[in-house]
Amino acid sequence: MREGLLQSFARRRNRLLSAPLRAVFLASAVMAAGGCDDATVLLQRNPESIRHMTGEERYETGLRFHEIAQFGDDRLKRLVLALRQSEGGRELYDYAAAHNPPYVEWQTMPGQGGGYSWDSDNSYLKLNPRLSDENLFRTLVHELRHHWQNTALGTKTWVNSPLRDWELKRFSEADACAYTAHFGAAYAAETGNDQLTGGALIGYGDKTSRAYSRKPPSERDYLQDAFVACMEEQDSNYLLYSQGHYLYVKKKSELIRQLFDHVDEAGEYAEFYKRYLDVPGPEETARRFSQFLTPSLNTTDVVPAVKAMSSDAFLGWVKQVTTGVNADYVDDIDKMEKRFNMIRNSVKTVADTQGKSRAMAAPGS
Ligand SMILES: [Zn+2]
Repeated sequence: MREGLLQSFARRRNRLLSAPLRAVFLASAVMAAGGCDDATVLLQRNPESIRHMTGEERYETGLRFHEIAQFGDDRLKRLVLALRQSEGGRELYDYAAAHNPPYVEWQTMPGQGGGYSWDSDNSYLKLNPRLSDENLFRTLVHELRHHWQNTALGTKTWVNSPLRDWELKRFSEADACAYTAHFGAAYAAETGNDQLTGGALIGYGDKTSRAYSRKPPSERDYLQDAFVACMEEQDSNYLLYSQGHYLYVKKKSELIRQLFDHVDEAGEYAEFYKRYLDVPGPEETARRFSQFLTPSLNTTDVVPAVKAMSSDAFLGWVKQVTTGVNADYVDDIDKMEKRFNMIRNSVKTVADTQGKSRAMAAPGS
């Protein structure tokens, strides 16, 4: 099978760069450079409950996060003030204000809590004014953790296979949920205000947050009671997440297949490989994913249970915990993974050969 692909790949080498290729390149570049992480279905079960606009919201402004305290409307100012009441809140505020602060905007979204999106230069945090102040606060913490994933872990620049994309999407969502649970419990303990953990269960993460905060602090196991619990909460009540993640992986996998069919120009093999296929080995992959597993904003502060695992054991755990409830997705992603690896091996062989022949042709090198 691999030889067949390689032969047909070699056969196509001399064709000219085609218009479809340019279109596919453009589409995939857009996909790699930007998008929406959080088609947040935080409130999918109770859309009627979210009519809490206060009239203070200014819709036209696109302030960056660190500008809110000075220039924001009264409701946004109140929100960041509430955030800064706890130590963890001040840490999160300072982090977001110092690391390419996202643009914060009001956006009415039926049945949704918020959103985090990005392009190559900036990121955008959308808040739904229909939420109550409590739910807005919870959404802000959740979305700011997505911002941390983007800026501290650099997740948007990772080159992933379909399996890793699936795992990364699932991890990112469970991580934002787990961090919010930890944050809410600490916030309640410190301020006596349980608005993040004591309200009605209407959105993703509420159930985990409540159970986590009700455990005595000495019995809280962040990995199991927050992270794994969030993964389970997602799979029991918020299947729109995994559906969205699956469709993302499928679309990207399809784009890579189309690129593979169209890449002809000699110089494009190396570029194609670098941009879409140059995935890291198991150790680096394990290092990257392990950084999620901390309730802090310090990426090296990983929970001891994860630190103690070998790369292989950890990646096995990642696979197991991200499998999800839909067996069809898993089967399909497995097929995409095999095709990805086949394409990757073929392109690598051609790109390496070209590199060699160029080096031999270049005088004095
Ligand atoms: Zn999210």
